[in-house]
Amino acid sequence: MKTCGILALQGDFEAHAQAVQRAGGHAVQVRTPLELAACHGLIIPGGESTTMLKLLAFEGLTAPLLAFAADKPVYGTCAGAILLAKQVTHPAQASLGVLDISVERNAYGRQIDSRISRVTVKDQSEMEAVFIRAPIIRSTGPAVTILAWYQGDPVWIEQGSHMATTFHPELTADIRVHQRFLSRL
Ligand code: GLN
Repeated sequence: MKTCGILALQGDFEAHAQAVQRAGGHAVQVRTPLELAACHGLIIPGGESTTMLKLLAFEGLTAPLLAFAADKPVYGTCAGAILLAKQVTHPAQASLGVLDISVERNAYGRQIDSRISRVTVKDQSEMEAVFIRAPIIRSTGPAVTILAWYQGDPVWIEQGSHMATTFHPELTADIRVHQRFLSRL
């Protein structure tokens, strides 16, 4: 079976590993370049993107992760999506530039920063989505396909074999997001 790595430096990597298993996949935690090299795809979980960016550099994982993304699928959730974006605002922050999207951090504001909502999937179905201090994807490049929307903004996108969500599908029972990612490993 193909191995789905979960970046396990910080954030809710444990919930992602369980979601991968619910979706029928095989998950391993990734903390080193050697562990990354053994994977067919990688999930970058939610958490705190500034901290994760620092830990990636500290562990010597930044360059290996960019090389990995050049030919294997990577999926970023929330903070993971922020790390993969080409441009980050509010505040501006360095990022890996794997996805041609621009994201605004903590864009739903402090008052209602976390919520469970229903989002509209491209096939017109609905999906329950957990948002936790989520960013908003403010723009997408031509290579990006939008797979789900919330209040008119993209919340699930893909570009080539890569994916990003601004919500947390690892925290609900719906396995469609993980299944779609696992199918490309
Ligand atoms: N607000 C966090 C950040 O900017 C992301 C929150 C999350 O991953 N749930 O990194």
